Amino acid sequence: MPLTLDHSYARDLQGLYVPWQGQDWPDPQILLRNDALARTLGLDPDTLDAGLLTGHALPGSARPLAMAYAGHQFGGFSPQLGDGRAILLGEVLDETGARWDIHLKGSGRTPFARGGDGRAVLGPVLREYLISESMAALGVPTTRALAACTTGDRVLRQNGLEPGAVLARVAASHLRVGTFQFFAARGDAQKLRLLADYAIARHDPDLTDTPDCYVQFLHRVAARQAQTVAQWMGLGFVHGVMNTDNTTISGETIDYGPCAFMDRYDPATVFSSIDHQGRYAYGNQPAIIFWNLARLAEALLPLIDADEDRAIARATEVIAQAQDSYRAAWLGVFARKLGLAAPDAALIDGMHQLWLGQGVDFTGFFRALPDALRGDEHALRALFDDAEGLDPWLASYRAAADADTPDRVAAANPLYIPRNHLVEAALNAATDGDMGPFMALLARVQAPFTPIDGAEDYAHPAPRDAPELVTFCGT
Ligand code: AMP
Ligand code: MG
Ligand code: MG
Repeated sequence: MPLTLDHSYARDLQGLYVPWQGQDWPDPQILLRNDALARTLGLDPDTLDAGLLTGHALPGSARPLAMAYAGHQFGGFSPQLGDGRAILLGEVLDETGARWDIHLKGSGRTPFARGGDGRAVLGPVLREYLISESMAALGVPTTRALAACTTGDRVLRQNGLEPGAVLARVAASHLRVGTFQFFAARGDAQKLRLLADYAIARHDPDLTDTPDCYVQFLHRVAARQAQTVAQWMGLGFVHGVMNTDNTTISGETIDYGPCAFMDRYDPATVFSSIDHQGRYAYGNQPAIIFWNLARLAEALLPLIDADEDRAIARATEVIAQAQDSYRAAWLGVFARKLGLAAPDAALIDGMHQLWLGQGVDFTGFFRALPDALRGDEHALRALFDDAEGLDPWLASYRAAADADTPDRVAAANPLYIPRNHLVEAALNAATDGDMGPFMALLARVQAPFTPIDGAEDYAHPAPRDAPELVTFCGT
């Protein structure tokens, strides 16, 4: 049976897309297909062939499109962005009735491409595949990777010609803060309402036709994003390009371009080559998500109350509440990582103080805690440049812990994350035609809590003298 797609976005959101399909590639080939994910979506993996997954050979009923959106990029507003190199193939309904977008990235230029070439290349496509699958395994709301295909084309990038590739990804939706900004910037309150009603029906159906539904909707989006960013913070994840067009309504992490995991704790950590001011640094992510949510609130004002002052007061209240809920979510994340039954703010804040300037491997710290609690502090102390300040903190931690804490810590903290030096080595090998290191790393990060004999190297940070990773957007 061929793949059956639904097209609610195309049906309901006229003015927010152009019908568009993928380019006709010389030699589309599937490199990786996530059959397990396909099955959870109720899809027969065999219906997902290379022609479909690269966007050109689609079922007759398909209504593929490029989505329009606006967005603040590094603080500057662009009223017209959109899928420059991506298309929405359509939606599938899983057996619970949940709706999922099937979206391609790297499928060719669209009318929204501006100066871009519409392409993606193999390294970055595999990077998104790996990191999004890692995030899913770590329990973070995220888009998922359905497939990575090569196109048979070569594409010019920084280091010369690279293999062209297309990522197929799945999301609860691709609605972004920037999608709302698109109509808000045009002063089209009618279309804005249509969009908000669509988003509510899709993500918060219990709010449909309730009084105050747009305020409540803002509250839900803010709560989801607060939770997601709190989880990033608990993993040392640096998204790298938290523009409002990369901030979803669903709360899913989206757009794995310049992202990376921090090895040694430093709130100022930035990987992106273009983030000179540190706007999207690790420690700045909570402030930025609320800046982005304030932009969503602004866009929604005309729906919240006809009286602008009243609308602003309501929206401001919602954002302030969400900031409180962020702090609670963040404390909850670290309480869980510490294996505590209840959050202990002094202990958690104190831990972050303790790390400053110490070069502590963020992921390794938590994995060293169970042994330290059981009396062997060697590995934990070795993570600090100067472990002297550790003692009072460890004493308080011991006091807050109980007999089950070490086991809870081991279960809550990953051993295997996509370590930058391993990711880079795996992607370089893949670009040279050897998928071995990539597949081995993918297997580790898909089961991040389970120690594997002989896989010790996957659990360590890069050597101290290794060059700092630099990441790029739009590759
Ligand atoms: P991003 O920084 O990945 O969120 O992308 C921002 C905008 O640039 C989006 O509208 C993308 O579709 C577009 N874009 C990024 N890379 C390319 C490319 N190579 N060709 C066309 N559009 C692109
Ligand atoms: Mg984007
Ligand atoms: Mg991107």
